[in-house]
Amino acid sequence: MNHQQFESWIFEQNDLSSEEKNALENHIRQCSTCNDLNNKWQVIDQHLHSLSDLSPAVGFTQRWKTDLAERKQQAQRKNTVKILFILLMVAIILFFSLLFIYYKNTSPIEIVSNLIQMFLQISIRLNIIKQSLIPLFNSLPVFVPLLGWLLLSSGFFLLVISWLLLIWRVSTQGVFLK
Ligand SMILES: [Zn+2]
Repeated sequence: MNHQQFESWIFEQNDLSSEEKNALENHIRQCSTCNDLNNKWQVIDQHLHSLSDLSPAVGFTQRWKTDLAERKQQAQRKNTVKILFILLMVAIILFFSLLFIYYKNTSPIEIVSNLIQMFLQISIRLNIIKQSLIPLFNSLPVFVPLLGWLLLSSGFFLLVISWLLLIWRVSTQGVFLK
């Protein structure tokens, strides 16, 4: 077999039969040119394999995109919690300033006992509200835009507070104002 044939076999060693491989190995041992070529090719072949290991795995780009979307969603959720917290704080401050205006001329002990009574009433009423609202919330579609939910919940919260204040005012003072 001629030298040229062995040279081409060096590049396709994976496709050779065992007999052809034996013949090639014999030739490589005797021919310094082919031996040299084979050594160089082995090094290059290894580099090619390690390069193919480095290339992005299947689905990598897709995974990266999904991760990005998840990170965005998490940031959005954090922002929502922040806004809700601020709204809650504003509502609480409003609530207590209303209380303060209302209670300006009352003794501190009376204020405390009235506050305790009121909070008990509020917790009972909130429970009733919660129980009547749970089925409603469960039936609402999840994809209602975030802003809608925000407006709804903050508006609802302020409504509840003013409603509670009204009820409490009526129950302590009667329908007719002084
Ligand atoms: Zn040779």
